[in-house]
Amino acid sequence: MKIAVAKGDGIGPEIMDATLSSIRATGAPLDFELVDMGKTWYEQGHSSGMTPIAKNTIEDLGILLKGPMETPKGKGMKSINVTARKMWSTYANKRVFKSLNGVDTVFSKASIPIDITMVRENIEDTYGGIEHMLTEDVALCRRFITRPGSMQVHKYTFEMARKRGAKKVTCGHKANIMKLTDGLFLESFYEVAKDYPEIKATDIIVDDLAMKLVARPNDFEIIVLPNLQGDILSDLCAGLVGGLGFAPSANIGDNVCIFEAVHGSAPDIAGKNIANPTALLISSCMMLRHLGMTKEAITIENSLYTTLQQGYHTIDFGHGVEKQLNTTQFADQIIKNLQLSTNTDTTNHALINTQSKREVYQILHTPTKGEAIVNGADFFVESTEQPKVIAHKFKDKLPENMSLIMISNRGTQVYPEGSLLTDCVDQFRVRIEREPGAPSLTADEILDFAKEISRSIKICSIEWLMMYGGVKSYSLAQGQ
Ligand code: NAD
Repeated sequence: MKIAVAKGDGIGPEIMDATLSSIRATGAPLDFELVDMGKTWYEQGHSSGMTPIAKNTIEDLGILLKGPMETPKGKGMKSINVTARKMWSTYANKRVFKSLNGVDTVFSKASIPIDITMVRENIEDTYGGIEHMLTEDVALCRRFITRPGSMQVHKYTFEMARKRGAKKVTCGHKANIMKLTDGLFLESFYEVAKDYPEIKATDIIVDDLAMKLVARPNDFEIIVLPNLQGDILSDLCAGLVGGLGFAPSANIGDNVCIFEAVHGSAPDIAGKNIANPTALLISSCMMLRHLGMTKEAITIENSLYTTLQQGYHTIDFGHGVEKQLNTTQFADQIIKNLQLSTNTDTTNHALINTQSKREVYQILHTPTKGEAIVNGADFFVESTEQPKVIAHKFKDKLPENMSLIMISNRGTQVYPEGSLLTDCVDQFRVRIEREPGAPSLTADEILDFAKEISRSIKICSIEWLMMYGGVKSYSLAQGQ
């Protein structure tokens, strides 16, 4: 079998070489095809960070073992990592955090073993990276949480839990505040959970989860989270087991799977041959298991554990200089220990892809549950005028079948009621709804009104206010 390999930027080539030599030493029946992907190719003008040949190879082979890739902060370049995960619909990001003998942590010293698997939704949320400046002072990021996307990640999580014989799956969220987005993620969680009655499904608000992960980490077995919350809490979990050097990850999709370490390209230590290859090595073991090469995965894992127990370490962990090794020496020690690692488990969990080429995009869609009615629109406008002045401008032009419900600033109502102590910025949201009992508004009606009102105030954007199955499907303003 052949897989695609992208060595990555910074420490990527060093830790990838260590990982590939360990895999080769097991005799795994695996060929590696190196692909051109990373900062260099981005800088050569490939906006996805890879050449068309690399893209085709990865899509054909379906498996990518990937080193970390660099993304400069702030404006400009999009993350190659996020682009790859999204482009190939790798909807579930599985990250495993396990205590390792030989890696000292606060918890290992207290004899508290950690074994947490986190599944992070990998495509949606604020990671759509859909951002706009509404005014020169106001930036907006759109946060997408979808039913099909949430169902995919929850199904993957429960299937994994069932295969593993897990007793409990916990969903982390912030549905107390973001009632529609996180609310949909949570609702989908319990919908999927119904098909897995043997597994206890429970949920927790993400801030409470952060506290409990530190205070009582072994209360948790498998946790599923939306993208951003999962990103932050998985680094917290990495801290529980000794740091980013020990956190592997698998990006699982139906057609392409990407296996990589959680950490980045570590530019501060790149080229020094001192990076810790453990996280990428364990990620490669996740890949071997995924490919059905369980025996080889266990052989490498056992050898790694032996190496750690022998006290060998790279500069970022462990004690003393006597058994401190550089990246190459650490890999050599693992290879040396391969002979010591015995295992009898040759179970085949083969999940090898045999996908056929797609001719068109797949549209994910759940059946409509009820009538869709346009109940109004939120107009986002730029203004430094007082809310009551903005209200007058709108009321002057409103057709008879629409009324002004409220005006808010940064999500807090400032008209018709509000507190003068609410600081405002130069961007307001004006909510218009149809008169009670009036028929559904049409797009034409709203756009005609928008054209009219835009003569007296600048509209930044318009959002439709929908009712599905008779339920208002939009949030209230704070204080409304
Ligand atoms: P980082 O993970 O690269 O480094 C954080 C700290 O951890 C640094 O001090 C680094 O030296 C150390 N570290 C990381 N991996 C290590 C290892 N294997 N061995 C020893 N020490 C290690 O995070 P950063 O500095 O915020 O990001 C650097 C670059 O990596 C950025 O461009 C970022 O966008 C990118 N990044 C890529 C990925 C990915 O490819 N999946 C993930 C995260 C960050």
